[in-house]
Order: sequence, then structure tokens, then C-alpha cells
Amino acid sequence: MIDFIDAQLTDWPLARENYQALGRTERRSMQLGDLTVGIQHNPARIVSTGAKTDAKSIGERPCFLCKENRPPQQTGVDIADGWELLLNPYPIFPSHFTIVSTKHQPQEGLPLDMVAMAEKLPGHTVFFNGRRSGASCPDHLHCQAVKTHELPLMCLIERSHALKLGRVATSESLGLDMPFAFKSVIITPDIEGMSELARIESTIGKEYIYEGRINVFVWIDHNGLLRICAVPRKAHRPSCYGTGQNQRLISPGCIDMAGVLITPVKKDYDSLTEEDVRQIYGECAITPKAPCNRQPTTDSL
Ligand SMILES: [Zn+2]
Repeated sequence: MIDFIDAQLTDWPLARENYQALGRTERRSMQLGDLTVGIQHNPARIVSTGAKTDAKSIGERPCFLCKENRPPQQTGVDIADGWELLLNPYPIFPSHFTIVSTKHQPQEGLPLDMVAMAEKLPGHTVFFNGRRSGASCPDHLHCQAVKTHELPLMCLIERSHALKLGRVATSESLGLDMPFAFKSVIITPDIEGMSELARIESTIGKEYIYEGRINVFVWIDHNGLLRICAVPRKAHRPSCYGTGQNQRLISPGCIDMAGVLITPVKKDYDSLTEEDVRQIYGECAITPKAPCNRQPTTDSL
């Protein structure tokens, strides 16, 4: 995979410039209960954070994930049946892929092939933004992948959710102090990963999947166990979303919910307080109940 990244950075000046610019992004962090949240000032991400996702705007632009509309320098790698892995030209981390369906079809349902993708990308987390939960291209089915160690939520889950606590847990059952609720599932080798991912639908609630109000993460942890995390969403964007004086250009997707909040605008980066970030998470996702004792549970969120 490193060879693929190197080749793309050699052949594709736009991607090279944006990956080089990553080294100059400003970052700071804050602690929200048990979740460490990094704030990243990343001006190049305005293409995604500021994307118009209404049907009219989408109908009027060529789909940038379809092969015929991609830049000629952008090449892909087959990663699973019907899926192609591309280098994301607007990265948040040094290894950032977009995994696109080879067919132009809407960002609907939950791609069960995420399990196969995670198995092909050791050390990476594959994630899916529901179309109303951070997807900037809701007309073309796609996932993304970045290195797992870059995502504070995945690191927190690996530290907190041991198999002895039960295969299925929630942020509440793990006793975590979180600004939003999540569900965590460990897939042991005797269980089929794809069917377990399909079961997320029934345990979280079908409406979250059908309405695209979900962020889902799939990865293989340090012990070789497959893990799934699902964050049900209330809103696509927080009430403060916008470019006005008292507004903020923040549009949380999986990476933001995983604890790396992207701010393309410098004033937002400079001024965000812990209270602001809690409010953004609280409006976009579900506020957890008070932590209970650390007992495994299969209750829905
Ligand atoms: Zn397309």
C-alpha cells in the first residue's frame, strides 16, 4: 500500500501538495471525559466540510467518485468485489483512502464488504458515513480508511472493551464518560464478520441505517480480533454550521466522531472551547445516559 501512495504522490501534483500541507496543519487537543479530542485546522478540507449535499447541488455537478470524472492522474486498486481503493486527495492523515463502489449508486444501507476491506488493510480502520452523517458525496457509495492509531475513539475502545466484558457493549455499559453514545462489538473468529455487521442494523435500530444517520467503523485490533463500532446520529450538521460571524464550518463525519475534529477555518480552530465541542457532539449524536457500572450488556443504545 505504501508503494501505491508513493506512486500517486509522484504522479499527481494536487495530492502531493495536499499531503505535504498536512505536515503544516495546526493541531491541539482537549479532554472530554474519557475521550481525547484532537482539533485539526485543515484548510484543504473545505471541499468536504463545505460541500453542498442537497439534491439540486448534487444533480448539477459531475460525480467526482465516478471513474470517468476522476482526474487522469488518480489510479485505483481493486480491494474487494465491486470496490476500488483510491488515495484521498484531501487527506486528514498521511494514509487516507477513499474506497468507492465501481457502480454509481447512492450512499445507502451499510456495506457489508467493509469486513473484507478491513481484512485487506491491516492497521487501518475502514469507516462509513451515512448520507446524513458526514458524507460529502451522498450520491456515490463509498467508505474511507485511515490508520487506526490516528483515531482516539478506536484506541479508547481497544483499551476499554476487553472480550471478558462481553462481545457487545455500549459506551454506558463500559462506564465511559463520553460526549456521545456508541456501540462496540467484538467479532471472535467463530463468528462470521459480515453477518455480525448486518446484525448492527437490528441492534442499533433500522431507522438509523435507512435514514443514513450512522457512522460505522470496522477494524482488526492488536489481537487480531475484528471490531465494529457504530455511532448513531441525530443530525448531519450542528446548529452552528455556517460561515456567518457566530457560525462554524464544522460538519462531523466518522473522523470527527472518532475524536479528530476538522476545522477548515482558522477562526473556528482558534475559538472552539470544550463546551462548544460537547455541544456539537451532543447535537449530532446521542447524549449518553450517566455511566453505569462496568457490566456487559446487549441493550440497544
Ligand atoms: Zn458516481
